[in-house]
Amino acid sequence: PALLVVAAGPWHSVRWSHAGLDFGWHARRSLATELDRDAAELRRTTEACYAHYADLIDDPYPFDSYDQVFVPGLNWGAQEMPGCVTYRDELLPRGAITDTQRAIRAVIIAHEMSHMWFGDSMTMTWWEDTWLQESFADYMGYRVAEAGAGFSDLRVEVEVRSKPWGYRSDARRSTHPVAPLADDVPDVDTAATIFDGISYAKGGACLVQLAFWLGDEEFMAGVNRHLTRFRFANATLADFVESLAECSSKDVRGWVEAWLRQPGFDTLTVRRDGDVPVLERAGRRPHAFTVAAYDSALRLVGRKRVELGDEAVRLPEFAGLVIVPNAGGETFAGLRLDPESWASLCAGLSRLEDPLVRAVLWSSAALLVRSRDLSADDFLDLVEAQLPSETRPDIIEGVLSEARSVVIPHRVPASRTAGAVARVAAAASAGLAASVDDEQRALAWAAALAATSADAAMLREWLDADKVAAGIALLPTTRWEAVVRLASLGEADARFIAAERDRDGTVEGDLGALRALAARPSTTAKDAAWEAMLAPGVDNRRFGALASGMWIAEQAHLLRPYVDAYLAEAPKLATRGQAFALEVGRAFPRIALDPRQLDALREALAGDVPTILRRSWEDHLDDRE
Ligand SMILES: [Zn+2]
Repeated sequence: PALLVVAAGPWHSVRWSHAGLDFGWHARRSLATELDRDAAELRRTTEACYAHYADLIDDPYPFDSYDQVFVPGLNWGAQEMPGCVTYRDELLPRGAITDTQRAIRAVIIAHEMSHMWFGDSMTMTWWEDTWLQESFADYMGYRVAEAGAGFSDLRVEVEVRSKPWGYRSDARRSTHPVAPLADDVPDVDTAATIFDGISYAKGGACLVQLAFWLGDEEFMAGVNRHLTRFRFANATLADFVESLAECSSKDVRGWVEAWLRQPGFDTLTVRRDGDVPVLERAGRRPHAFTVAAYDSALRLVGRKRVELGDEAVRLPEFAGLVIVPNAGGETFAGLRLDPESWASLCAGLSRLEDPLVRAVLWSSAALLVRSRDLSADDFLDLVEAQLPSETRPDIIEGVLSEARSVVIPHRVPASRTAGAVARVAAAASAGLAASVDDEQRALAWAAALAATSADAAMLREWLDADKVAAGIALLPTTRWEAVVRLASLGEADARFIAAERDRDGTVEGDLGALRALAARPSTTAKDAAWEAMLAPGVDNRRFGALASGMWIAEQAHLLRPYVDAYLAEAPKLATRGQAFALEVGRAFPRIALDPRQLDALREALAGDVPTILRRSWEDHLDDRE
C-alpha cells in the first residue's frame, strides 16, 4: 500500500548496476563518511538478498530500479515504497558499527526487499490482512539475511528479542488474531495500532512453524502460487489459504483456523512418568518442533522431531535425561519444564553449546516472569550467575534489555528498584571483565554498564579517555549513555552536558544533551524537561529524547507529580497526529508504578483517550498486571 516517496537532498549516493537493474544507497551528506564506511557491505547485502529472492520467488522482481535511502527523522524503522525504501538513519551509526547492529540491519534490508512482493506487488485488500505483508516480511527478513546474505544464527535474535515482544503482546487485552476480521479494524487509527508485536513477531513466528509443519517445499510452493496469482493485485487471507491448500495434502485450513484466527498462545509442558519425559500441551494448536536431550553435564545426547497435539507424547528414548522442547525455536509457545530439567539448565545455561537453545531458555524465563511463575529476583539471579559467561553479544543485549526495560519496571517495586539496577550493573561489570579479549561482547557489556553503573569515577574515566579499556572503543551511543547516567546520579551539571553536546556536534548530540538534562535528579530539571515536552513545536525525536531522560528507574519518588501530569496532559498531546500519538504512548513512565498510580491510569482510561494512545496505555497497564 506504500505508493511513492519524495526524498529531498542534498544526498551522498552510491550507485551501481547489477542483474540489469539500477541500484543505489543514499544518505544525507553529513553521513557521507558512514555511508562510505559501510557501502561495500550494504551493496553486498543488497545483491545477495536480491539474488536469494530471485531463487526463492517465481515471480520476477516487480519494479525497474531499487534505491535505499537513509533519511533523518523517519517515524518507522523503515518504509517500503515500490523500488525505493527509506530507512531511519540511526541504522547508519557514527563511530564503529557492532556485529549485532550489522546483523539487525541486514534483517531490515531483507525485510524491506521482501515487501516488493509482499505488500507492493501483492497488496492486502484492507488492513485486517496487514499480516500478509508484515508477518511475511518478518519471516523473510530473518530467513533471507541468513540464507542469502550469510549472517549466521539469526534465529537467536528472534528468540531473545522478537518472540518476547510477541508473547508480551499476545498476553494483553489488545491481542488479536494474526489475521483478524475486517470488522475489527474499522478505521485507519485502529489500523495504525495493528503494526504491533502480533503482526510482526508472532506472525513471523507462526510462519516459521507453518513452514516446519508443512515442509519448506510445500510452504514455498503455496507462497509462490499466491504471489504469482496476485501479482499487482489485492488479496486476502482466504486467497492465501486457497493457494496453500492447493500445494499440500495436510489440513491447511484447520491449521490456519487454530494459528491465525485465534489470539493467545499455548504452553508446552514436560512432566515425568518415572524417568520417562512426557510432553503435554496446554492449549489448542498443533505443534511441530525439535526436542533436545542432555545428560547431567548438559552434553547433547539426542535431538528428535516431535508433533504434539491433543495427545501427550512419551519420550522413552530420553529417559532420565534433561529435556528442552522447541530446541530449534520452531514453534510459538511457552515452556514449562519438569523441575529437574529446569534446575539443571538454570545451573548450566551458559554452558549449553547451541546458542539457539540458550536463547529459547532465556526467552522462556522472561515469559515465566511475565506470568509470575518466576520472580524478578530469580530472573536477576540467573542474569548474574549465567550471563557474564555468555559468549553471544546478541543474547547479552537481548537479555539485558528484557531485564532493564521489562522485568525491573514491571515487576520490581520502587523501593527495591535501585537494588535491582545495581544487580544488572554487577552482572555487566563481571561480563565486561570476562570479555576483554572479545570486543563485540565487551561493547555489549559496556553499553549496559554505562546505563546502570553507580560508579561515577569509572564513567568519567571512560569519557576522559574516550574508551572503555585498551582495545575497547567508547561508541558514541555508549558515551551518551554514560553522560545520561552521570546526570541521573547528580554527577553532571548543565555545563558538563553542554560541553559534551559541543564535543559531539551532531543532531544525536543535541538529543543526547536534552536527555541528559532531563535525567538530572532535581525538580528544576524535571520541570524544565516537562515544559519542553509540552511545547507546541516539539518534534517527535526531541519529545522522545526528553521522555527517555525524564523517566529514570531509580527516581520514582521524585517523579510522582510528573506521572500525574503525564496522565492529565497526554490525551491532548496525542491529538497532534498518528506518529506523534505513538510517541506520546512510548513516553509512558518507564518506572515502577504503585497501586495508586495504576488506579489513576485506570481512571484516565475511563475518560476520553484517543485510539492510538488508549491502545498504548492499555498495553502498559496489562504489562504491569
Ligand atoms: Zn515491514
